[in-house]
Amino acid sequence: MRSYEVQTAGLTDIGSVRKTNEDNLLADGDLFVVADGMGGRGRGDVASRLAIDTIRELFEQDQTADGLLSAVRESNDVVFQLGEAEQDGQRSGTTIAAVAMVSDGDTELLISVNVGDSRVYLLRDGRLQRLSSDHSLVGDLVRAGALTESEAVNHPERHVLTQAVGTAPEIDPHVEVLRPAAGDRLLLCSDGLFNDVPSDDIRRWLDEADADAAAQGLVSAAIAAGGHDNITALVLDVKATMRS
Ligand code: MG
Repeated sequence: MRSYEVQTAGLTDIGSVRKTNEDNLLADGDLFVVADGMGGRGRGDVASRLAIDTIRELFEQDQTADGLLSAVRESNDVVFQLGEAEQDGQRSGTTIAAVAMVSDGDTELLISVNVGDSRVYLLRDGRLQRLSSDHSLVGDLVRAGALTESEAVNHPERHVLTQAVGTAPEIDPHVEVLRPAAGDRLLLCSDGLFNDVPSDDIRRWLDEADADAAAQGLVSAAIAAGGHDNITALVLDVKATMRS
């Protein structure tokens, strides 16, 4: 008998500028993923979809923390091989922000794994924290104290990633493991959201009681702010189940 269940609301939008939507999302059982694809000739959406499909298939066979991490690593191999097969040298890749609820003895664990700059936020006890770590040039500069968060979202090189799935033979994902609590709300999102919506506004939308209203409000706020990129928001609500 599980102690917790996750209810979700998510959507992705092309935004106002891009010609294709290369973001993808998944909410399947206890697995939740946002992926932001990139690459020449619109192949970013192929990369983000392929990575998500690979992670889903492998996590299904091993629904543990290690299973999720292995699945993300395997998605890197699969997307990297796709790039090797391309003739024009235009490698495609994708970010990954993945969260899974896995069993841990009598209770559960929440696992967050990310590669690139798609994010995982946790709203718990009124405090918004980030479980993901941005693998980006500006992320490095913020961690080094050379740039503030608000300078980072306006930085001309804010889209430059230091890591992505499918662009190199090896990846070094960021992993966080925590015990879930009833009332936890998580947000998985692509950079099209947090580059256009200030964190105070993200926080405000996450206070919406209804998860659908929160996800819709976040995406609408990014579009209202210019919709400069594809926008994806996936809201997860952790609920206590009735124990027998
Ligand atoms: Mg993006």
